[in-house]
Amino acid sequence: MRVSRLMLVTLRDDPAEAEIPSHKLLLRAGYIRRIGSGIYAYLPLLWRVLQKISAIVREELNAAGALETLLPQLQPAELWQRSGRWAGYTDGEGIMFHLEDRQGRELGLGPTHEEVITALASDLLRSYRQLPVNLYQIQTKFRDEIRPRFGLMRGREFIMKDAYSFHADEACLKQTYAAMDQAYRRIFSRCGLRAVAVEADSGAIGGSASQEFMVTADAGEDLILASTDGRYAANQERAVSLPAEAVPLPGGARSAGSGEALATPAQTSIEQLCEAHGFHPSQTVKVLLLLARFEDGCQQPLLVSLRGDQQLNEVKLANAVTARCSADHGTLLDIAPLSAEAATREGLSALPLGFMGPHLEDAVLSGAASWTPRFLRLADATATALEAFVCGANTTDTHLVGAGWGALCPAPDSLDLRAAQPGDRCQHDPRQQLEASRGIEVGHIFQLGRKYSSALEATFTNEAGQDEPLWMGCYGIGVSRLAQAAVEQHHDANGICWPTAIAPYELMLVIANAADAEQVALAERLYEQFGAAGVEVLLDDRSERAGVKFKDADLLGIPWRVVVGRGAATGMVELVERASGEKREIPAAEVQAALLERLLPERSGLVAA
Ligand code: ATP
Ligand code: MG
Repeated sequence: MRVSRLMLVTLRDDPAEAEIPSHKLLLRAGYIRRIGSGIYAYLPLLWRVLQKISAIVREELNAAGALETLLPQLQPAELWQRSGRWAGYTDGEGIMFHLEDRQGRELGLGPTHEEVITALASDLLRSYRQLPVNLYQIQTKFRDEIRPRFGLMRGREFIMKDAYSFHADEACLKQTYAAMDQAYRRIFSRCGLRAVAVEADSGAIGGSASQEFMVTADAGEDLILASTDGRYAANQERAVSLPAEAVPLPGGARSAGSGEALATPAQTSIEQLCEAHGFHPSQTVKVLLLLARFEDGCQQPLLVSLRGDQQLNEVKLANAVTARCSADHGTLLDIAPLSAEAATREGLSALPLGFMGPHLEDAVLSGAASWTPRFLRLADATATALEAFVCGANTTDTHLVGAGWGALCPAPDSLDLRAAQPGDRCQHDPRQQLEASRGIEVGHIFQLGRKYSSALEATFTNEAGQDEPLWMGCYGIGVSRLAQAAVEQHHDANGICWPTAIAPYELMLVIANAADAEQVALAERLYEQFGAAGVEVLLDDRSERAGVKFKDADLLGIPWRVVVGRGAATGMVELVERASGEKREIPAAEVQAALLERLLPERSGLVAA
C-alpha cells in the first residue's frame, strides 16, 4: 500500500479530547476518529490491526476446539425478561441500549449474548451425546456506558470476542475453562502483551469462579492487588486479605457494655474523633447509611458497620445485598449513600448522621414515605470481631466509648465487606504483602454454572435418561480495547511501537526525496521485491520533506523501516528498527534477507514482548 492512497492525516499536537497516551497516539497517527461520545471509526490502518488480533484469536480458539458463529445484535426483550436481566440492564445504571420496533415490541442492542445463546442451546442441545460444545463470535457490542472514555478503552460500541460453552457436568465445564485460560494466555502473548490473570468478581454476568486478564499499564482503570510471591492476584473488587491487627481499647473486654457517653462536638468523621481523643481508628466502629433500590421498586435502607480504619468494598456490598434481597425484590439496581436531604424528602428528620452507632433503631425509619421501614443490617468481620469499641451514640455530638456487641445491640451477620488495601497481609501467607498495580481488563472468563440454563429452561437428557439444566461457561475478549492496550504498553515519546504480530504493516519503506528519480526507482524496485517476498509493506511515496516522513513513520509505529535516501546513488539503504531505534546502513541487495531474518520469528508473536 502507498501512503499517498491512505487518506492519512496525522496530527502534530495532542488532541484535547484525549487524556492517556494510547488514545492520543491513535488519534494523532490517524488510526481512529471520534464520531460521537464513545463512538469511533476504525480507519483502515486500525482495521488491519483489529483483523490481525482477530486472526490470532481465531487460530487459538479453533485450536482449543471452539466453533465460530455469528449471533444477532438485535435481541428481543422477552429473552432478557426470562433470564431476569432486563430491568437491571435497562433501568437505573443499566447499560443496554433498547428500543421499540414499529409493532411496539421491545428490543435491546446486544451488550453480551448469554440469553441468545442459551435460547439456541435450549433449542438445539438435547442429549449428553452432543456435549460439550463451545461457540464463539467476533462482533460489535453496544453498551451505553455511564462514562465512555479513553477512546477504544471504554466505548459505547466496541468489538468483542465472546464465547459460550455448554457441558453435561461441572467437571467438563472446568476442563474447558482451563483450556480457555491457556488459549487466552497464548492469545495475549502472541499479541505482544504483558497480561496477568487475576481473580475477579463475576458482576452482573453472574456465576461462580471468574478470572480477568489484565494488561498492566498505569492508565488502567482497574486496581490489581498481588502478592510479592506471585501466588495471589485479584482485582480489588474481589480481593481478600488479612486486616491489620486492631489496637485494643484500654480497659478492653472487661469494660465492654453499652458504652459511656463522650462529648464529641462536631466530630463527625473518624479522623476528627481520633484526633480529638487520641483513639486509634481500629478502636472505632463506623456506621454507613445507604439506600438500595430494586427492580420491584423496593427501596431498602442499609446500615453497614465497618471497623473505623477500613474502607467499604462496594462490589462486595452489592453482592451481599443481592444474595439477601433479590429473591423477593428482583435485580438490585443501585446502592447510594443516604444524604440528609434524601432523608428530609422522605419525611425523616431524626437521623443522627455523623454520630450513628450500630444500635440505631428501626424506629427512626417509621413514617418513611417510600422506604422499607426496617434496616438491613450488615457488618464487616473486622467490626464484629471487636470486643470493645468506640461508636456513635445516635445523638448529635456524642459517641460511646467501651461499647460491646450484645450489650449495645446484637452483632449483625459478619461478612467480608472491606476493601483489601495495598500493604495488607496475604491470606495464603501472612508474611507476604499485597502490592498494587493498575491494569486494563482485556479478557474475562466465567464459570456460569446453571444460572442461565435454569432461567431459560435449557436442559439436556443425561446418561441416566433424566433432564437437567446445562452447565455453562462464558469467555470474553475486548478486541478493540486490546488494540489500544497494546499501544498503551508499546509506545515512546515519538509514537507507537506496534508488536510485529499485530502491526498494521510490517515494513515502512520511505523515499527520502520523492523528487529524486534514482531514489524513486530503487524504492519502487524494493517495494515490488518485499511485496513478492510476502512482507506487508507500506511505501511512503508522498512528496513531503524527509523530516516529516520520518516523524510520521515514528508516530505510526510500523516495526521496521527502510529508508531510501542519498545512499541510493551507491546502492545503499538504511534499515531501522522502530522500537529500539537501531539503524544499519546496508546494500539494497541485502536488505531483504537482513529484514526477513529478524521479521520471521517476530511474526509468530512468541518473541518476548
Ligand atoms: P468493564 O469492567 O471494563 O466495564 P466488563 O467486565 O463489563 O468490563 P465483560 O462483560 O467482561 O466486560 O466484557 C468482556 C470484555 O469486553 C472485557 O474484558 C473488556 O475487555 C471488553 N469491554 C467491556 N466493556 C467495554 C467497553 N465499553 N469498551 C471496550 N471494551 C469493553
Ligand atoms: Mg469483565
